Parts: sequence; C-alpha cells; structure tokens
Amino acid sequence: MTEETKAATDFGADVFGEEAIRTYLSKDTAKKLQATIREGKPLDPSIAGEVAHGIRHWAMDRGATHYTHWFLPMTGATAEKHDSFLELKDGEPIMQFSGKNLIMGEPDASSFPSGGIRSTFEARGYTAWDPTSPAFIKRHSNGATLCIPTAFCAYTGESLDKKTPLLRSMQALDKSLKRLMKLFGRGEAHTGCTLGAEQEYFLIDKEFWKKRPDLVLTGRTLFGAPSAKGQQLEDHYFGTIPDRILSFMNDVERELWKLGIPAKTRHNEVAPAQFELAPQFEELNLASDHNMLVMDALRNVAEKHGLKCLLHEKPYAGVNGSGKHNNWSVAYGGRNLLDPGSDPHENAVFLTMLCAVIEAVDKHADLLRASVASAGNDHRLGANEAPPAVISIYVGDQLAEVLERIENPKSAKHEAKGTLKIGVDTLPAIPKDATDRNRTSPFAFTGNKFEFRAPGSSVCCSGPMTVLNTIVAEAVDRISGELEKALAKAGCPKPAAYKPGEHTAAFHAALQKILQASLKEHKRVVFNGNGYEAEWPKEAAKRGLPNAPDTPTALAALADKKNAALFEKYGVMTKRELQSRHEIFLEEYAKKIRIEGACACDIARTMILPAVRSDYLEVLRTYNETGESDMKFALNMLHEQVYALGNGLVALEDAISRLSDAVANGDASETVARMSELRKISDGLEQVVSDSRWPLPKYRDMLFLY
Ligand code: ADP
Ligand code: MG
Repeated sequence: MTEETKAATDFGADVFGEEAIRTYLSKDTAKKLQATIREGKPLDPSIAGEVAHGIRHWAMDRGATHYTHWFLPMTGATAEKHDSFLELKDGEPIMQFSGKNLIMGEPDASSFPSGGIRSTFEARGYTAWDPTSPAFIKRHSNGATLCIPTAFCAYTGESLDKKTPLLRSMQALDKSLKRLMKLFGRGEAHTGCTLGAEQEYFLIDKEFWKKRPDLVLTGRTLFGAPSAKGQQLEDHYFGTIPDRILSFMNDVERELWKLGIPAKTRHNEVAPAQFELAPQFEELNLASDHNMLVMDALRNVAEKHGLKCLLHEKPYAGVNGSGKHNNWSVAYGGRNLLDPGSDPHENAVFLTMLCAVIEAVDKHADLLRASVASAGNDHRLGANEAPPAVISIYVGDQLAEVLERIENPKSAKHEAKGTLKIGVDTLPAIPKDATDRNRTSPFAFTGNKFEFRAPGSSVCCSGPMTVLNTIVAEAVDRISGELEKALAKAGCPKPAAYKPGEHTAAFHAALQKILQASLKEHKRVVFNGNGYEAEWPKEAAKRGLPNAPDTPTALAALADKKNAALFEKYGVMTKRELQSRHEIFLEEYAKKIRIEGACACDIARTMILPAVRSDYLEVLRTYNETGESDMKFALNMLHEQVYALGNGLVALEDAISRLSDAVANGDASETVARMSELRKISDGLEQVVSDSRWPLPKYRDMLFLY
C-alpha cells in the first residue's frame, strides 16, 4: 500500500468513533454511550466522567492540548472557544477534562445574534453536548484541538443555534412515525432520517481574488462583463479534472476521511471553475454537522493550494450558481420508508409517506421557500439554471400515474388498468434512474429519497431539514389521526392489536380514502414538467402556489401565525424562537445588501471611475491633437457612460440610506435594483476601456483556471 492509498484506511482516525470508544472506555460505559449514539437514548449522566477521561486521553494521543465546544450559532458559521486541558493543582500543572466540561459549556457569547432572545445583561449562553455527533480532532500547523459538537441555547433553554431545532424536528418526526407505524402493525423502532448533501463550489486563483474587493468582502463579483466564452460549450461539465484541482480535491478528501466524512464523488460542474463534492449519505444530524466541516475543509485546503474556494450562491453573473442538493429520506427500524418496496404492505407504507410528503410540501411551501432564503440564493432561485422560487414536487411520470389511479379510480383514462388498491396491489417497478432526469424541479423524488435542490451552496443544511422534518411530521400525524378515527368507526380492534399481515380490509379502505382526499387537495404541488419554462410560473400562479421572489418576501412566512402554531405544536420552536429567527434572518439580509451596496460604491468611485477618466482623458488628448472624427464619437460615448456611472453611484447611495426602513417593511428591491443598474453601466465600460487600465481582473481571467 502506498502513502496515497493509506489515506483511505485512515478513515475516521480523527473521530472519537466506535473503535476509539472500544479502546478508551470500559465495556460497560462503551455500551451505554453506543446506545445513546445509535438509538438516540438519553445519556446516562453517571458515565460522563469516564467518557470525558477517555476522550481526553484519546485526544492527547493525537496531539490535542485544547478542547472546544463546537456549535452552530445563528451567524451561519461554526463557533469555537478553546480551553486548554492544562490546570494548576497546588501549583503543579496537570491535564484535566471533567464530565462537566464535556457535557456543558458556558461561552460568553453575547455577540452572537439572538433576535432579542437574550439581552446583553443576561448574556449567558450554554452549550450542551450532542453525543449523537462524535467528537473530532481539528488540526492546525502546530497543534490540534478536540472539538465537541454541542447545541447552543440561552439561560431560559431557548435555542440560539441551528442544531437544536433540527434535533427537535427529528424527535417530532419520530413521534409521528411511531404513531403511524403502529397502525401498520410495526413494533416500536428507531426513526432514522438521512441526508446526503451534494456541495457545489467555485475555485479561483488567490492572486485574482486578492485584486477583487467585491469577492473579498461579499463573496461575489459585483461587477464584471461576461467573458466571450462562458459555459456555452458545456465543455467543463464532467470534463477531465486538471492536475492542480485534482491535487486540491485529494487533500480535501483526505482531511474529510480522517474526520469520518465519507466524501465519495468529485467532478467538474457546468460553469467553468465550478466543482462538486458529494459524500455518501449519513444520519441527518451528523451529515448536517459534516457538511459544515466539508465547507471548512474546502476553504482551508484551497489556501494551501494558492486558491480560494467560493461558496457563495452566485459568484459570477451569467454562468451557473452553486447549490447544495439535500437528499433526504426517512427510515423506520432500518427500513427506508421512501423505498417503494416489494409487497403490497410495504407499498402501502411507501404510498402513505409519499402522500404525506406531497401534503406537507403543498401546505408549507412557504416555509420551505423561507428555509432557503438568503441574499446569495436570491440570485440563484428563478435564474435560468436553478430551481425556480416556486416550490413544487417532481415525482416522475410513473408515480404520477400511480397517484392518479389512487385518486381517480373511476376515470375513463384508467379504466383499463383499474383502481390501484392500497395494501392489495403491488406497484409497478419504479426505476430509480428514470425518476431522476428532471433537473428543473426544486423538490424531486429520486427513486428512494427526495432531493431538495433549492438550498444554496453556503446554507447550513439544518434549516431546510428542520422545516422538512416538521412539516412531514405534521402530515404523518394528521393521516394517522384520520386513520385511527376511521378504524374506530369501522369497529376495528385497537390499533395496538394489529399484527403485520393481519390488516383488515377496513384498514386499507380507510387508508385509501384518506390518501385520495389528501391527493385531491394537494396534488397541485406536483409538477412533472420543465420548471425553467416561462409558462410554469404562470401555471403555478393559477394553481395558487406561492412564488416569493426575494428573501424579505420569503421570510414573511416566519411571521405567519399558522406556521408559529405548527412549530409550537410539534415542539420544534416556540413562537418567540421563530420570531427571533425571522428578525435575525432579516437583519442578516439587510446587512449583506448594505455591505454589497457600500462595496459597489467604493469600487465604482475609487477604481472604476478613475480608470475610465484616464481613458477618457487620453481619448480627449488624441482628439485635440488629431481632430479625428472617430475620436469625437468615442469621446461622446465615453462621456455619456461616465456621466451615467456617476448618476448610478448617487442613486445607489441614496437607496442604501433608506435600506434599513425598506427591509423592515419587507422590501429591499430598490438597493438591489440600483446595484444591478450600476453594474450594467460599469460592465458596458469594461468592454470599451483599454484592457491595461481596467482595474479589476476580468471574468476571462478568473474563470479559466487552467
Ligand atoms: P445526483 O448528482 O444524480 O443528484 P449523486 O449521486 O451525486 O446524485 O448524489 C446523490 C446523493 O444522495 C449522495 O450523497 C447519496 O449518498 C445520497 N443518497 C442516496 N440514497 C440516499 C438516502 N436513502 N437518503 C439520503 N441520501 C441518499
Ligand atoms: Mg443532485
């Protein structure tokens, strides 16, 4: 085995996983901890001390001197505050890490956004160990730190992070599924949600990046005329990966493998300089943490290769943006409920779940849309390559027909094939690949999972996944309630009395009716056509599907009473927690737009205008010397454009001054529009001003890495 191939066998070397648990903990403690991790059982507090001791030894064997509670504050980044293991006892240095240090931390975290939940005078925030996401080692050039994934909440217990609601939503879904599966005669089992997050990103040579204040400060180019060659030839997609990029990818993967992250697929994406990394799917909470580490690794490793990794949703105008496809499914007792299955009984479970998801997405499309709303993603949703801002579901033609046969058994169209009787008939084989070809849908069924494609490349998966779990929990719960009622009415034995294979006809008839009614009401959200067609938004409007074109509009869903009631009912967020999030997201949006606006003004005034003026003066000089009529023409044109640039600048500054009020009123469109007008003028100038004077690296420089 060579050094290179050995990297793969180092998988999980820096994670306190199964092997480390067995090596560093007693048998009894190891067993208890594993039960907590695998089955989500509450942690036995009496083992905390021994676990802490074991973790410290393991971490020190790997060079760690410090530990940190690692958490996901509302900034969208990850947070850490390091403490050393070192303590003085009677003047002597010893290495210490107690059960208390492991279970709970109290970072002075008053500067994290809390949306009014925590005022500065009671600034205490607490971090609480999440044993379901294992501790790991973070290395830097001359040392290492033990990281303990934690949830972050206020003194009152209110959540201040992105992990807590996710964990609560998983509990909600678990509770609903237990109710439903009991009706199907299944014994109590563990609900497992899974996530595979495909991560798209751009790479740019660091030298170009340094010369672009817009990329440095905002992550996207605020100016830049299109390059003659962009992605028209589509020659980048799945193309040969150049050596420089491959060695970057190799280093990223090695880092991820060590952290137990199963990075699996790598390839060139459609836009030049755009790439994708996809891991194998994992348990949802872990996969969500892992995606944060994937983004960290991409950024850190890029530095070492003289590159910068751009995780912004739309770094370059005119070529594709970057998304993060969230592949989600849910298993019960180890069986994926979104897998059609092989007998009528499994099919019935599958169809119930399918209908529940359709119902959930239709009822709460506004929340799903809100969960992916951000200043960056506004440039992507609805743009040509991205899923539209209208949330709809793609199920594929075959499943669409199945659903129709359930809903309209008597329609003439289906007479030949007849009704599909739930729990009696089997489904036609549904090929996984055939269902996967529609790339224009924001929410697609892909054989045994749903792929939520609207999330932007920089988003933390937990937001969209929290919403998805919660809305599905509600739909499953509602269907279960209906089913229980119908069964009671039919005089069936108590649900607990059911055994697999002994379902009565009444059960299936009741289920069929419930699913029919659900489909009737919610099938409008199913759309199997081309989401990029101009006709679709019109058709969607006719169907009454919401279409929130920008972040403030989308976020309004968080202020909706019905949504607050939903989150409260399922114990995912209190009204105040939801409100605080609405406030935080709006503020973040306003700040981002303000930074972009200010940066655009700065670049236009101090870089672009001077360059254009020099060009103008040179043309003027030549005209004065030669009197050539060509020069006169060029002069007039330049004069007009410079004038327009100045005006555009003033208009943008003006809009920015009104931005805070505008966002508070749910509308920042003026600043956004002025920014893009200013850009248009500048991009026009970029195409006429002498290349040697243009102060910013151009698209053609930045986009072609090799
Ligand atoms: P594509 O590019 O066609 O969308 P990929 O193979 O790149 O597909 O990515 C699919 C992702 O879905 C991978 O991360 C894969 O592990 C994940 N996945 C597969 N099955 C499941 C499942 N049951 N639950 C969640 N994710 C899944
Ligand atoms: Mg995909």
